Amino acid sequence: MTPQLPDNIDCNSCAALDAQDPLATFRDRFLNDGETIYLDGNSMGRLPRAALRRLQEMAEHEWGTILVRGWTESGWMESPLRVGDRIGALIGASPGEVLVADTTSVGLFRLMTSVLRARPQRRVIVTESSNFPTDLYIAGGVADLLGCEVRAVERGELREALDGDTALLMLTEVDFRTGERHDMGALTEAAHAAGALVLWDLSHSAGAVEIKLNHHGVDLAVGCGYKYLNGGPGSPAYLYVATALQEELRNPIQGWLGHDNPFLFAAEYRRAPGMRGWMSGSPPVLAIGALAVGVELQLEAGAHAVGEKAALLTEVFIRLAHARLDALGFEVATPASSERRGAQVSLRHPDGLAIVRAAGDRGVVGDFRPPELCRFGLAPLYTRFVDLWDAVERIADVVESGTSRLPKYQQEIAIP
Ligand SMILES: *Cc1c(COP(=O)(O)O)cnc(C)c1O
Repeated sequence: MTPQLPDNIDCNSCAALDAQDPLATFRDRFLNDGETIYLDGNSMGRLPRAALRRLQEMAEHEWGTILVRGWTESGWMESPLRVGDRIGALIGASPGEVLVADTTSVGLFRLMTSVLRARPQRRVIVTESSNFPTDLYIAGGVADLLGCEVRAVERGELREALDGDTALLMLTEVDFRTGERHDMGALTEAAHAAGALVLWDLSHSAGAVEIKLNHHGVDLAVGCGYKYLNGGPGSPAYLYVATALQEELRNPIQGWLGHDNPFLFAAEYRRAPGMRGWMSGSPPVLAIGALAVGVELQLEAGAHAVGEKAALLTEVFIRLAHARLDALGFEVATPASSERRGAQVSLRHPDGLAIVRAAGDRGVVGDFRPPELCRFGLAPLYTRFVDLWDAVERIADVVESGTSRLPKYQQEIAIP
């Protein structure tokens, strides 16, 4: 149940929200210096304490002692499917529909290629022109490779862009710049009405908002492991292929571990059924072990509760920003309706880069996206409401103490 927010939110009302927060105890399950206000979990999530123990144990016990027998005895070979099923439970998929593999970029390549090869009479991928760059780059590369076309249009023109030539509608559910969230159900339906398949990138959704892939009849999805799932740097990504399409769509990188019986070492490829057929080479076992810990924390919290907290955190942050930051030249870029946004709030300011850097020096870690967007990811598992109050006060303080001395954003400045 969503608590009633007072008209004027202050430090005490934030403390009261923390006291009522059903997810409050999750904060201590992550490594935390007690000082930094980390609002960059949409870029890379915090380290779960249990992941530290798990990595140590896997290295010492499994790799160090069990050695090669670990592929069977420690369940390494099955880990992409096993952890995939746990991610599936989080994003509204059925068992056997999700595989942990590669990066999001590679997953996009594999899925887009498979769709265009399966539907040779349709030659167009429809996407949004402001989609995450890797999604656009990969689509462009796939189109070059297979002689197809990418139709990248503005958000409001997506439906009109779908036609009888469209093989695939490929979208990111939550926009990485503004945090705006698409209506997954309505757009999936529109793609299907045009006879196209749909591929959703869940990189900024999983672990931030509740996702219902099966419920909406979603065909395909990808997402990354190191953002709200807290899998750590270089954490592998995941692929979702709806059961109904698993016969028809084929993994374009048919490697030995996607073979029906890899240890026959047969000369001829025979595809394994289901998501196992989407395996290519050896899985990154240690990284999957760390990711599994982050995924279990999300499942323990529950996707619905996580989504509700994200809605409340973003609501409080937006209200605090209006109250304190509007007058200092900021503009909220994130939608006002909680159904239309993820777990991040973005603020436009002409001195955005300088502000994000100076706020970082004061212990408030957000990030910057050119030309003027300050992004703050409010990861529901470890962000407190009092953190939002403190962050907005410190951001205001940065501007009030003068940003004119700080470097302005230019194309040449390297942004980490
Ligand atoms: C973070 C992100 C990615 C990351 O891609 P990798 O290949 O895993 O580095 C892809 N797409 C979107 C929308 C993202 O937000």
